[in-house]
Amino acid sequence: MNYHGNPVSRGIAAGPVFLYQPFTAAVSDIQIEENAVGRAIGDYEAARHNACNELETIRARLAASDLEKAKIFTAHIDILFDEAMDGDIRELIEQERCSPDRAIDEVYEKYAKILGKSPDPLIKERASDIRDVKTRLIRVWNGVPEKNLSSLPSPAVIVVHDLLPSDTATLDRENVLAIVTEIGGSTSHSAIIARSYGIPAILGVEKAMERFTQGETVIVDALTGEVITRPTEQQLADCAEKRRQFAARQTQLHAFMEKEAVTPDGVRVDIELNLASVGEQELEGSKCTDGVGLFRTEFLYLGRDTLPTEDEQFEIYRMVLTKFGNRPVTLRTLDVGGDKKLDCLNLPHEENPFLGNRALRLCFDRPGIFRTQLRAALRASVYGNLWIMFPMVGSMDDIRHAKQVVSDVKEELTAEGVSFSPDVKIGIMIEIPSIALMADFAAQEVDFASIGTNDLCQYTMAVDRLNPAVSRYYQSYSPALFRLVKHAADMFIKNSKPICVCGELGGDRLGAAVLIGLGVRKLSMSISSVAQTRKLVNELPMKKAEEIAAKALSLSTAQEVEQYLNDSLKDILA
Ligand code: PEP
Ligand code: MG
Repeated sequence: MNYHGNPVSRGIAAGPVFLYQPFTAAVSDIQIEENAVGRAIGDYEAARHNACNELETIRARLAASDLEKAKIFTAHIDILFDEAMDGDIRELIEQERCSPDRAIDEVYEKYAKILGKSPDPLIKERASDIRDVKTRLIRVWNGVPEKNLSSLPSPAVIVVHDLLPSDTATLDRENVLAIVTEIGGSTSHSAIIARSYGIPAILGVEKAMERFTQGETVIVDALTGEVITRPTEQQLADCAEKRRQFAARQTQLHAFMEKEAVTPDGVRVDIELNLASVGEQELEGSKCTDGVGLFRTEFLYLGRDTLPTEDEQFEIYRMVLTKFGNRPVTLRTLDVGGDKKLDCLNLPHEENPFLGNRALRLCFDRPGIFRTQLRAALRASVYGNLWIMFPMVGSMDDIRHAKQVVSDVKEELTAEGVSFSPDVKIGIMIEIPSIALMADFAAQEVDFASIGTNDLCQYTMAVDRLNPAVSRYYQSYSPALFRLVKHAADMFIKNSKPICVCGELGGDRLGAAVLIGLGVRKLSMSISSVAQTRKLVNELPMKKAEEIAAKALSLSTAQEVEQYLNDSLKDILA
């Protein structure tokens, strides 16, 4: 059988399915018989022993590649053998005749809550480790095998309803052959992460969790968007051949990785990097990019019970700024809400989160969070070339409000005698049509802008970027979107202010050609698109890019634009 979805990260792979359903720890209320106490204690000890073995295995594997991560698992083993918690669990089983899972749950929760109240953020942070170990222990007690994407036993194709940002942050990259999800569009978090890790991914495959079985072999062809179940020998052989050809093309492209992006008629385009975390592998991108065009800082806030402290943020910002030297690092202030939920902020449920209290709006609502991030960023600014950028700007009021907070924070730092660079640039993301239309005013108020085409498309076409049921309405090649981009670009160019595109369209094989033709001289993208875009720029004369852009704007549908771009760029893309 063939199933279809949206191929969001190119590549092809075959392998066994790993159905991923995060374990949720439900515990029993039944009191155990008096004569079952001894056995219950034995079961608890056995579960603890097995949980420890799991942790040892993960720790040993990570020790070779990522010492910092390995240390987390050492700490988890310590928690498992904490004497106070162990004593309390035994007492509950022996005296209250609680079943072991209930005893584990109560005791671990009690300690997690105590730590969670600590004023020391480092201690507070331990609460989430305790909960993590609790879930593991209860799962093992239930006899449920480990299902965690941070440590797969062997290479597999991940099939999941949707990947949470916290899943992707710890993804075991070596063993993930491909990703298939039921929901998520081409600009969802899962898609962006898959692309930046170079993992083939097809999203929006309806009922994937029901259709595929654990361990069955599938082919994931993320060049065409097909998932093939029960493949024949011939299909597997074809897949291997297609994989080989794809890899050969990637190697050819690799030659462009560090080549300056200059068109044959001499126009230079900056190729910048989108960063969504700061692991060693991500920072390798500093070797072949002209700066960071989009530093998504959300990862600092995800999967934890407490907010990151100013010092913690400062260290990370300093590290990235130092790494890029005098090249710009465009730090986007916190962009949560919408598709990105935070454990450490108890945000109320919203009917329309993408239209709700998201990003800059949330920062205005919680000025403490906003100011802490700005303080950390400004303090780090002396180590490099910092550009600060605000997401979800809808009006000139938003711009003025955000700039006022920056001035207040600068004043505060000055009063404290803390230094920061006088050259920090302040800019906005253009991702709401209202500010694209007001770009003439915006260009006079800020130092730069970056167009977030992922959201700009969502808000222009009025289509939820994650909902596969409406994905055909999410048209990245819509002439309407290009018209808005043109207007914004024209206004910034007229005011001699830099304008970048950091949405996925910036690193798109077809979209980038139009953007360059519209006058955009800075494109920011995930590392997997860098070589291909550098090649495009090197082979596309600006005169032709301008013709392409003009023609795209004159067509009436996204489909016509896509067809036209494929035809006119076919020699370059071949
Ligand atoms: C965008 O909206 O285009 C963008 C770059 O931001 P994000 O994808 O993080 O919303
Ligand atoms: Mg956005």
